[in-house]
Amino acid sequence: MDLIHEAMDEIEKKTCVRFQRLKSDHGVKNFVHFTATNPLGGCWSSVGMDTRRSQVMNLQKPECWDKGVILHELVHNIGFYHEHQRPDRDNYIDVLYRNVRPDIEAHQFSKFPPHKVVDTGIPYDLDSIMHYDTHAFGIVDETGHPLPTILQKPPNQAQMILPIWARPYLSPLDAAEINHIYAGECRKRADLEAKGLL
Ligand SMILES: [Zn+2]
Repeated sequence: MDLIHEAMDEIEKKTCVRFQRLKSDHGVKNFVHFTATNPLGGCWSSVGMDTRRSQVMNLQKPECWDKGVILHELVHNIGFYHEHQRPDRDNYIDVLYRNVRPDIEAHQFSKFPPHKVVDTGIPYDLDSIMHYDTHAFGIVDETGHPLPTILQKPPNQAQMILPIWARPYLSPLDAAEINHIYAGECRKRADLEAKGLL
């Protein structure tokens, strides 16, 4: 199984979301178009469905070819932003903007205002596949030592948040959140299946 299917499998195993191979694009506008050689480079995805056009997800080879990274991008793809951008993140982490690489857009670390996000009531999750790690996009000091960009709040500052590639799984809270958001859609699908319409 290739890495994209392994990552999809992780989502299907733990949530009610299902991916479908597009059999024909006749009349279908909102599918996901995977690319691996976008001139912009990088690992990125549009967030959520666009009913008017296809979504693009770029997994540049070889740097994005990692199950955790692909899983992270797939979760963006199905509509989720970064965990460390939650409006309540300041209760759990400190973001050290001064250590963020200058070529990285700082808005990847900025907080969303509460009205921009859906509050599912699910607690903040440092283990989320959507949470950046301690040294994400950080600079190094003059001795080559990586500097942190995200620290847990005292007294847990020394506790590392692992890189996504080291934990290529949906956390239990990730799965709960996806199931919560998709509950209505999944119920609709189950009804259609029960009626033999799918
Ligand atoms: Zn991301």
